[in-house]
Amino acid sequence: MPELPEVETLCRQLQMKIAGKKISASEVYDAKLAHVRDIQGCTIVAVRRSGKTIEIILNDGYSVLIHLRMTGRLLWQRESDRPKHSRWHISLSKGNLYLVDPRRFATVKVLPTRDSLNGNDIMQGFDQRAFIAEHGRRKTKVKNLIMDQKAVSGIGNIYACETLHCAGIQPERAAATLTDNDWGKIFRKAKQILKKAIEKRGTSISDWRDLYGRKGENQFELKAYGREGQKCLQCGGTIIRIKQGGRSTFYCRSCQK
Ligand SMILES: [Zn+2]
Repeated sequence: MPELPEVETLCRQLQMKIAGKKISASEVYDAKLAHVRDIQGCTIVAVRRSGKTIEIILNDGYSVLIHLRMTGRLLWQRESDRPKHSRWHISLSKGNLYLVDPRRFATVKVLPTRDSLNGNDIMQGFDQRAFIAEHGRRKTKVKNLIMDQKAVSGIGNIYACETLHCAGIQPERAAATLTDNDWGKIFRKAKQILKKAIEKRGTSISDWRDLYGRKGENQFELKAYGREGQKCLQCGGTIIRIKQGGRSTFYCRSCQK
């Protein structure tokens, strides 16, 4: 499932490729998206990310909001041969943008453009003090809390494991046992890790591909996630795997306390 760095990668690539361009055709191929109106004739003003939603801002006061969910992908193609599992498409002067989505969970909506972005996005205007004031005394386990998108948005499972490993924090600790210093470290590391992942165009462990169908390269940067039984690169201990809230957590017992 695409997380923040993958969605950010797509938004940046789309901004470069389609901002300022006029839409010469738009087409829906899937009855589940029948409500998506024809946007032929509109010009794309900009593309930005809001949480895990891709916002394509149009010049008529509306935006196309795309959420990729499980298997959704956006694919740029010069030619107009429709790829397999295409559900929606727009044509521009020099190419075509397809929503390809075998499991059909991705959503597309055309709604009036909103003024501001989500305020608690870890990469955009996140308020750490407000977070600590509101959540710092909870008994919730730290990993579950930093993955709670209402508390802080943008940290998914892979990057939560990486963040806590890098910060040296045991993922099952209750939030209330963490100091301000610990929180500072967690959010600083989270930002560094996400920034690096964006530079590497995301993590391609399963089916993530960028706008041009290429794999990302951040999978080679992972220090904890997916490394069960392997040596900890920080201390030489062994990475173990546990289950938390139905998701796998990978961590090192010796350097995460
Ligand atoms: Zn270690």
